[in-house]
Amino acid sequence: MSARVALLLALPLLLAAPHAYARSVEEKPAGPTVAERTAHNQRLRALVGKPAVEPISVQHLHTHEWTVIDPAKGATLPQDTLDELLRCHQTNQRTRIDARLVTAIVAAALEFNKRRVLVVSGFRAPKFNLALRKKGREVARDSQHTHGTAVDFKLPGVAPKRLLAYVRRLRLGGVGFYPESGFVHCDTGPIRSWTGR
Ligand SMILES: [Zn+2]
Repeated sequence: MSARVALLLALPLLLAAPHAYARSVEEKPAGPTVAERTAHNQRLRALVGKPAVEPISVQHLHTHEWTVIDPAKGATLPQDTLDELLRCHQTNQRTRIDARLVTAIVAAALEFNKRRVLVVSGFRAPKFNLALRKKGREVARDSQHTHGTAVDFKLPGVAPKRLLAYVRRLRLGGVGFYPESGFVHCDTGPIRSWTGR
């Protein structure tokens, strides 16, 4: 198709455009309808006197990096933020983190009315996981941490045992209890539970 033919074909559209625009401006309603205003006022009235839901900060214990989640907007984080925050703190490698882990830790914070979550460990690069095993740490060979499907966390001010009981009730997957270290392991693998140090 030559440029001239293309222009001729487009001409009716180009000519019609200003007219269509003018018409749409004229037909735009003057404002919200009575029903819309009433609904809006009712929503505002319902909010009066209710405290806003405080945001929850999620901090990684090793990198000291943190982010904020507004539970009113859902217990989620943008995938990229999540992958960065829960990256392997030893190698800085990233993987795709299972977003259900965020839902679980936010649910736990809300359950205990806490606004701060401390992440002890998120993703572990396989070589870091292996290094921990060689050091004799309680680390599974094919740990869920190496798949981005596990998080170790604590809620300051909440006894680990209470946190453990809550995470178990979620029935999300594996739950590990580390009473001495004071954190709970939560993963999205098969449902099972164990106690470490
Ligand atoms: Zn763990």
